[in-house]
Amino acid sequence: MQNKIHTAQSAFQHWKTISFQDRALLLKRLKTVLDERRMHYAVLMTQEMGKPITQSLAEIDKCGWLCEYYAEHGESFLQNQYTQTEAQLSFVTYEPLGVLLGVMPWNFPFWQVFRFAVPAIMAGNTVLVKHASNVPKSAVGIESLFLESGFPLGVYQNLPISSDKVAEFIAHPFVKAVSLTGSEHAGSSVAMQAGKYLKKTLLELGGSNAFIVCEDADLEKAVAVAVNARMQNSGQSCIAAKRFLVHETIFDTFVDKYKLAVSQLRSGDPMDPETQIGSLARVDLAEDLEKQLQESVAMGAQIVLGGRRKEAFFEPTILTNVTPEMPVFKEETFGPVAALVSFKTLDEAISLSNQSDFGLGVSIFTANISQIKTRIHEFNEGAVFINDLVKSDPRLPFGGIKKSGYGRELSKEGILEFVNCKTVVIH
Ligand code: NAP
Repeated sequence: MQNKIHTAQSAFQHWKTISFQDRALLLKRLKTVLDERRMHYAVLMTQEMGKPITQSLAEIDKCGWLCEYYAEHGESFLQNQYTQTEAQLSFVTYEPLGVLLGVMPWNFPFWQVFRFAVPAIMAGNTVLVKHASNVPKSAVGIESLFLESGFPLGVYQNLPISSDKVAEFIAHPFVKAVSLTGSEHAGSSVAMQAGKYLKKTLLELGGSNAFIVCEDADLEKAVAVAVNARMQNSGQSCIAAKRFLVHETIFDTFVDKYKLAVSQLRSGDPMDPETQIGSLARVDLAEDLEKQLQESVAMGAQIVLGGRRKEAFFEPTILTNVTPEMPVFKEETFGPVAALVSFKTLDEAISLSNQSDFGLGVSIFTANISQIKTRIHEFNEGAVFINDLVKSDPRLPFGGIKKSGYGRELSKEGILEFVNCKTVVIH
């Protein structure tokens, strides 16, 4: 496996000299191959981790969009920035770092890898990707996609290693930085190793987003979005809404409408295009969720819908009577469990929303845009979405604060994470 580091390093020596135009051309070809074989790759994901097929197809399409986005904008993001000083000339130039290591999770097996690798490669770096152990075919599939699209050998390599081998790769002098998307535990362990060797890290970790529904919100819209915000990817998403904070005057109506909408979700064979909820990726994940649910129920939470598990399948579940001390409120729930809490004032809602170790994002549903705009700075989050669910978009930076990690992916900020921002002064 260590040979791969040498391959990546020698590929870097060449790749960094390739023009932006030629890199962009390859990214466009990558999108074409993705488009041509979208069903093949979507099926791969669905078979490996159970994501409903329509969601797998949407994930492939989003990866194509990302390739197109950086093909079009990567060069302009990395143009020299000139600043007037007393020197004859002073500017900043952006240079690639070298070989990067990506450690990636299984929940969006293509998207997570693409949003790390595509901007990094566009900037002139080469990458090694240690993908999650339960999606080996997706991992191999992505590597062959890059090769088929014409990227030189060594620009993108799959690293089929177990997590206990990651430290050895971080330690290698050719590896310049690490990007990890995954759990708090994995993030902390990788950051500790990287810290030992003074290497940069970017961490995209867990989340427990609040979804606030104010008294004046468009209730029909809030309910419809709340279903998707929690149940998409069978609830296995870092940016899913997990804690629903609803104004007390509309709480009961919200519960009734939400219960009806969630109960209409179709579960079943993930290969069936009608299926909206599949099984979780592994039985142990469903068991962990069950434990969080049972402990919360023992502390007084009330199940108004679902609550049962059959092997890896977990029924879409709604809980009320939730308090901040319960696991479903204070821990990340990585499955289709929605915890509902009522609030009296916006101050209380903001305080509940911030009462979390995580800080990835928050959704607020309200008709009073001018009021909420004055309160945005009070949310301790990487993203605030008004009247929409929190979602990633190539055009906007994505990332968290607190235990949700640090650094940003996507947009201009994302491509600047893994470059040497070199200051040049000429007298
Ligand atoms: P995970 O167990 O942390 O695994 C993520 C990756 O890290 C896998 O490749 C895993 O390898 C590796 N890994 C695990 N422990 C490690 C260690 N001690 N040292 C080095 N590498 C290690 O997370 P997961 O269960 O796959 O994913 C779910 C988590 O990811 C959730 O917390 C979710 O919120 C978070 N997530 C965050 C974002 C975001 O953008 N913020 C996006 C998606 C997911 P193995 O598979 O071989 O163990």
